[in-house]
Order: sequence, then structure tokens, then C-alpha cells
Amino acid sequence: MANKIPRVPVREQDPNIRKSNFEEVCYGYNAEEAMLEATRCLSCKKPKCVAACPVSVNIPQFILEVAKGNFEEAARVIAADSSLPAVCGRVCPQESQCEGDCIVGVKSEPVAIGKLERFVGDYANEHQLNLASTAPANGFKVAIIGSGPAGLACATDLAKLGYEVKIFEALHKPGGVLEYGIPEFRLPKEKVVKAEIENVRRLGVTIETDVVIGRTVTIDELLDEEGYHAIFVGSGAGLPKFMSIPGENLNGVVSANEFLTRTNLMKAYDESYDTPIYVGSRVVVVGGGNVAMDAARTAARLGAIVTVVYRRSKAELPARVEEVHHAEEEGIIFQLLSNPTEIVGDEKGWVKGVKCIRMELGEPDSSGRRRPVEVPNSEFEVETDVVIMSLGTSPNPLISSTTPGLNLNKWQCIIADEEGKTTREGVFAGGDAVTGAATVILAMGAGRTAAKSIDKYIKAKHS
Ligand code: FAD
Ligand code: SF4
Repeated sequence: MANKIPRVPVREQDPNIRKSNFEEVCYGYNAEEAMLEATRCLSCKKPKCVAACPVSVNIPQFILEVAKGNFEEAARVIAADSSLPAVCGRVCPQESQCEGDCIVGVKSEPVAIGKLERFVGDYANEHQLNLASTAPANGFKVAIIGSGPAGLACATDLAKLGYEVKIFEALHKPGGVLEYGIPEFRLPKEKVVKAEIENVRRLGVTIETDVVIGRTVTIDELLDEEGYHAIFVGSGAGLPKFMSIPGENLNGVVSANEFLTRTNLMKAYDESYDTPIYVGSRVVVVGGGNVAMDAARTAARLGAIVTVVYRRSKAELPARVEEVHHAEEEGIIFQLLSNPTEIVGDEKGWVKGVKCIRMELGEPDSSGRRRPVEVPNSEFEVETDVVIMSLGTSPNPLISSTTPGLNLNKWQCIIADEEGKTTREGVFAGGDAVTGAATVILAMGAGRTAAKSIDKYIKAKHS
């Protein structure tokens, strides 16, 4: 029986070596390993893995092609639904999506769908496979705001349908969080992010960087003066949250977004760049999501002893299981069931410690997770030189404040219906700008849904 084969382990860099370099942690499968792992798939008639994938990749079909050694065909199957397989294979939370529902996982370990997707994505990029086919130009123009996964997925589907698509990006490099947030040791920029963005460009999509919509040009101007027939807003959620506790203005307190942008986009870890970054000898990271793990592991690589302070227990850590495991292997200290109450500074205004209080878990809150409650008289202090706040982000209000009729909800997210339609005619939205900080694959799914909806809208309006 095929599924009696144990899951093929994946090779990784030794934790003691990788904790001081920025090279990729996971090496991925080679061709033999991928083909062996692919034989574990049962090619289910009603594949639960596909139903659990937000972009509905035909998982059994691509895995079948991998098992036969037809890697180009496998890439073609994935390309029908995803433009970012080498990215998604690396960063998607497979354990709670496709692999979480894989039938093999009932009695054994699930098929390593993510690692197989990564193998196929890398194969396609290394062999520069041209998998795209586009319909003839249909004469309609769509502007996409933001070049993160939502914008790239929307652009891909519209370009395939024959639209002239232009992405406007505020930063000097495209990719959104893939470029400025997720570290090189998890998601290599040249080999993976740039390569997959090139595939989107090959469809005819234009990307213009250094354009801040709402400042350089407004949505109204794009629609009324530049002749765009519709707009997709995929501007993400890049505005960091803080705790509003005493001491947050001290030198040495930074948001995880700023810290990671300096290291990733502005290459502070690379000595040939001038970007300043300070970690001192000890760093406290507040929070427990993927962003917190990335900030902690980055600070450790820059030479600091790092403590993650999180108010719930290990079971509630929102970060991917693999990221927590890697952080532990790399020596990150976890101070769980603890919450900062004050950041303490020295006489020169620099951070020297964080006062915390112990927490215990009470009744479930509106999110269904047990609410952390302070334990009386349990205060303690952690010495540190730097505090990195990783408490979540919300959308930047620039676009909504410069676009009449584009309404927001109480979390400052753009209101869009299930088809991605906003409250402003001709303007669609998706990804973190609508949901608040979420995942790459959910942003891609929203981009794809909006592309269908934009196609329907333009064809109805101009028929
Ligand atoms: P973004 O990726 O944020 O892209 C939005 C783009 O819009 C940005 O490039 C921004 O510069 C641009 N923009 C904003 N405003 C304007 C404007 N006015 N004009 C022009 N351009 C504008 N998800 C996972 O699935 N797995 C992970 O492991 C994971 N790790 C993460 C680690 C970090 C550090 C962070 C920050 C997030 C992580 N996420 C992870 C979440 C995931 O990256 C996001 O959910 C996803 O990138 C959202 O995609 P998006 O396209 O909506 O927005
Ligand atoms: Fe293969 Fe698992 Fe999907 Fe079934 S659920 S098709 S075994 S990957």
C-alpha cells in the first residue's frame, strides 16, 4: 500500500550553523525524494485537500505528475490556479489547510503537499518554464494597487483573460510582505520572490514601483483621467499596532514591521549596505505570530539573545508550528503566559528592561480562544536593550481617505462583499486590506475572486 511509506523527511540547515546566517533553513526535496513522497498520495476521487486550499489547486493531479517524474506537467497543473507555487510551498500554513485535511493524515502523517508544491515551483523557476497562456487583448485596462500576493494573483488572472493590467506599488521593489516582511532565511528573494514575479510579468503585466496611490495619483484620477475601467485595491495591512503602555517611546522600541523592513527590503543584515539596525545584546519580542517568530529569529541572527513574550500558552501561539519549532531549535527563549506592563528606560532614554505580569487562561473570548487573565502580584522584569512590538497590523488609511465613497469597517479595513466589490463603483478590493493581517494564500484567493468579479463588471458595463 502506497500510504504505508512514511513521510519523506526534508533536509534542513543545522540549527547551530543557520542561527548565525541568513541562508534558507529548509533545503526542500530533490527529484528522487519528491517522486517517493508523491507515491504516498491516494489520488482521492473527492480530494479533501483541494477543498481546503483557498485557491483550489488540483493537488492530486499535480502530485500524480510528480510521481511519474513529469515535473513540467505538474507545474502546468499548478499554474492553472496559482502564480506563486514556490512561495506558497514555503510559507502557507499547510497543517491547517490542505495537509490538515489530507486523508492519509488520518492514520499516518499527511502527504507533504507543501514541500511537493515547493519542489515543482522551484523546478519551473530553475528551468524558466513558460507556463502562461493569455487570451487576445480585449481592449480594457485594470489598475492594481499593491504588488503583494493579492495584487499579483488578481493581475495574473486578469492578464490571462486579455486585460491590460498595470500594478502600482508604493515601495521600490514589488512583492509586498513577500519582499519586505518575510525573511530571506524563509523565503529567498532573488531565487523565489523575484522569479515568481517575473512569471507574472511574462503574462504582460506591467509593474510600476515608487507610486503611492492617494499621493502620487488618486483612484479618481486613474478612473477618470487615465482611462482605467476598474481598480483592484490590494494594499495590505502595513500599519503596526502598539500596546499603549508606559515607555513605548523610548529609544530601542520598534515595530516588527520596521525591524523586518530594514533587514529584508533594505538589507541591513548585509554588510555591503549602509542601512542602520540596532539589536544590542538582548532583545524582547512581544507577540506570538509568524511576524514575531520572524523578528525573533532575525534578531538572533544579528547576534542578540532573544526572548519572545506572549500572553497565552504554547498551544495558542498563532505562528505556524514549523516556525515555532525552528525558533526553539535556534535558541529563542519563550516567556509564555506573560504580558508586558511597562518598558523601563535608563537616564539617557534607552530601553533597559520590560516589566511583565504573569497570565493564566480564563473563559473563551469572542475569538473562541481562552482569554488571558492577569495573575495578581506576579510582576517580574526582563532585562533587554531592544523591544520589538509584534502585535498585529491594520490597513493604512491613505487610500480610503483619498477615495470618496470607499467605506471602511470599525477595524479600518475596506468593506468588500464576497465577490470583492467595495462600496465604490468600479473599485474592488481583497487581501489584508479587507480582512486585516491574514495569510498569503487567503490574499491570493481574494485576488482571484476579485479578478472574476472585475471581468463580470467590465463585460456587463461595456456590452
Ligand atoms: P501585502 O503583502 O501587504 O502587499 C500590499 C502591497 O501594497 C505592499 O507592497 C504595499 O507597499 C503596497 N501598498 C500599500 N499602500 C499602497 C499605496 N497607497 N499605493 C501603492 N501601493 C501600496 N502569511 C502566510 O501565509 N505565511 C507566513 O509564513 C507568513 N509570514 C508572515 C511574516 C511577516 C513578517 C508578515 C508581515 C506577514 C506574514 N504573513 C504570512 C502574512 C502575509 O504575508 C500577508 O497576509 C499577505 O502578504 C497579504 O497580502 P496582500 O497582497 O493583501 O498585502
Ligand atoms: Fe492525495 Fe491527501 Fe489529497 Fe487524497 S487528500 S488526493 S491523499 S493529498
